[in-house]
Amino acid sequence: MAEVERNEAVTMDKIVSLCRRRGFVFPSSEIYGGLGSSYDYGHYGVLLKENVKARWLEAMVREREDIVALDSSIILHPRVWEASGHVSGFTDPLVDCRFCKKRYRADHLEDSQCGQRPSKRPGETEQCDLTEARQFNLMFETRVGAVEETGQQVYLRPETAQGIFINFKNVAQLARRKPPFGIAQVGKSFRNEITPGNFIFRTLEFEQMEMEFFVPPGEAADWFRYWVEERYGWHLRYGVRESHLRVRPHDPDELSHYSSETSDIEYLYPMGWSELEGVANRGAYDLTAHSDASGTKLEWVDAGTGERFVPHVIEPALGLNRSFLTFLIDAYDEEVVGERERTVLRLHPALAPVKAAVLPLIGKSEDMVSKARALYDELRTVAMVEYDDSGAIGRRYRRQDEIGTPYALTIDDQTLEDETVTIRERDSLAQERIPIGGVRAALLDRLSQPWKTPKA
Ligand code: ATP
Repeated sequence: MAEVERNEAVTMDKIVSLCRRRGFVFPSSEIYGGLGSSYDYGHYGVLLKENVKARWLEAMVREREDIVALDSSIILHPRVWEASGHVSGFTDPLVDCRFCKKRYRADHLEDSQCGQRPSKRPGETEQCDLTEARQFNLMFETRVGAVEETGQQVYLRPETAQGIFINFKNVAQLARRKPPFGIAQVGKSFRNEITPGNFIFRTLEFEQMEMEFFVPPGEAADWFRYWVEERYGWHLRYGVRESHLRVRPHDPDELSHYSSETSDIEYLYPMGWSELEGVANRGAYDLTAHSDASGTKLEWVDAGTGERFVPHVIEPALGLNRSFLTFLIDAYDEEVVGERERTVLRLHPALAPVKAAVLPLIGKSEDMVSKARALYDELRTVAMVEYDDSGAIGRRYRRQDEIGTPYALTIDDQTLEDETVTIRERDSLAQERIPIGGVRAALLDRLSQPWKTPKA
């Protein structure tokens, strides 16, 4: 595929600044100086994140018959992580500089800056004195039990997948499913990442949306291709532009220990192409490892024929926060309308934190305010809507554009005469008058229509 250059206004700094200005995301523990690679989500951030999660769960569970949901614990028995290979193998190679005391990922030196001379790479100046690479485990450790010395050492999960594998038997029996079938889970994962992330691209704690799809061994290659396509389509369905997405199969030397085939769905971030979601063919690795280590056979036995096999697993794994960031970046736009500049988030309406804003043209007009509040009260029973009567109407529109609200409903003098309101569309800025009694149906109808980004 030809290299695509980003030639538009968006930069990571602009996304960080918008997130902060509008309260989507801010640095964690800020009053104590912040903690690297940790962020807190404010009101609109929570709403957007919940919408991304809901769209993923819908596509995985609600719209299909062959996938069920699960919510497993964050802290699992420590033997889970021994059997899975994480205790011995979930490591990054690190090097330290004895001179500047900075620590780098040995496999990312090309993208790192020297601690003394940021224009150089580590190791490029005469003073750089790098150690040999050492393996550093990314799992956070903690202890269970009241007494520090005798407590059992456990880990915060670095992925949600293992919680699914160890529940294979429970779920397969209770859900009365036979392969091919899947188990989907959304939840927090934790990794002691040492490379500073690009904003929320890489953080210490993050939410993962993972689905393990269990298939008869002979069907694994076909299902792998199916899930790469399916997941690629999901990002497009919710508005990510195709020119900014690509599928990159892993080279054999890149593959994880458990995987026979992996493809990354990559997005063209402001810092370049990087992994958005990974799809892996994990074979029988995980179920076999947990069967051997636990003594419980994790296999499929057909009650009728007695046929038995260890299913192979296809895993699409997506970071919720990384998906959130991707939608924000892809939606970000700046344009001049008339004489004015506006920043607008062209988010898919199904993702937008707020679906409509109800705005009385004159905030001091009691008649307009009471009509607007009645409409707001009606709409909030069916959708996330906002009411705003403060400041000039143009500023209120721009505020809604910046948080990606697809519709604004304005109550003005004419409303008081003929019971109509204007509905303003975020992307085209088209305005139309509709009867106030029909707003609820019109809004729900518009929100359910297919949507495509107007961005090139
Ligand atoms: P990377 O190469 O970016 O470190 P990975 O290959 O280790 O990612 P996986 O273990 O495949 O990632 O995790 C699945 C998904 O979880 C990734 O595609 C990404 O969306 C997300 N993810 C992984 N690590 C982080 C992190 N530290 N912060 C935010 N999201 C993450």
